[in-house]
Amino acid sequence: MAWRRNGLGTGDLNLIVAKPSTAYNNCTMQHPIIDLGSAQIYRIEECIDTSFLGKSFFPQFQSELLNNLPDWLLPHHYHPDSGALVLSMHSWIVKTERHTVLIDACIGNDKDRMPRAHWHRRQGDFLHRLAALGFQPSDIDVVMCTHMHADHVGWNTVLRDGRWVTTFPKAQYLFSRVEYEHASTYQHPNPIMRQAFNDSVLPVVESGQALMIQDGHEVDEMFTVQLAPGHTPGNAMLRLQTPAQEALFVGDVIHHPIQVYHPELSTMACQDPQASRQSRLRMLHHCCEHHTLMLPAHFAAPHGGFIEERAAGFGLRWLNEDASSSA
Ligand SMILES: [Zn+2]
Repeated sequence: MAWRRNGLGTGDLNLIVAKPSTAYNNCTMQHPIIDLGSAQIYRIEECIDTSFLGKSFFPQFQSELLNNLPDWLLPHHYHPDSGALVLSMHSWIVKTERHTVLIDACIGNDKDRMPRAHWHRRQGDFLHRLAALGFQPSDIDVVMCTHMHADHVGWNTVLRDGRWVTTFPKAQYLFSRVEYEHASTYQHPNPIMRQAFNDSVLPVVESGQALMIQDGHEVDEMFTVQLAPGHTPGNAMLRLQTPAQEALFVGDVIHHPIQVYHPELSTMACQDPQASRQSRLRMLHHCCEHHTLMLPAHFAAPHGGFIEERAAGFGLRWLNEDASSSA
């Protein structure tokens, strides 16, 4: 296990970042990737998805936008030859003294997701990866889905005896009320999204484990939900406050590092591109102003970081970079 300590220039905080072990089959407790003292943050990667092309995912994308961006972008986050974006599908887990919270539930297994063949009836090892971090499904107290798209609700449920049942038997599942009311009546043009609601949201509601929440909902004294609409009408973020550091799980308010440098880019999956842009700008300003650790749902390694103000907008300093270096 390689450890690195980064002095961030924020008082006494030493953010501890560890490379997660890739050997997850022995199911022994692994170190968190970020240790904030009173909260440990883990990440489970379900898969890396390179099926989305920059020019189709971002309707306003032009290859010139890549000019003058940091070197690390290619090819770790964007394949220049194919034009593919590198997106990680992952869940975050936060363990505090009071709660173990899972944020976003990826794609899931056994789900009907055609025509997206590589999401269809997957047989992935997500639960083994969870176990390798030292968690059983029954250890999860809270599941927070930032929104109801198919890549954020999949592991809410598993197929058992032909029925969709909740994966995390003791968890309270938090859904934005606005999001739920919208998704339960909206005929989404993408059949995958309708299917996801039916197999990964409705069974949770029917189980009695769902809690519909509003902006400002406090999970406990450390976690607060903040709505950030645009990508979806009830899109939400989860803020973690520890004495050492604030972290913001921003879900799909931002999908890809290029949007730090070009926050005007909304995706073809954003229901209201204009509102999505406004929420993204608000979030970036907040992270910059409060030195908040930004942890999105789809950034490839190193998966999160700090937002800095630059002469021409925002910049990104990855969480494993030294504070003195700048990208
Ligand atoms: Zn997503």
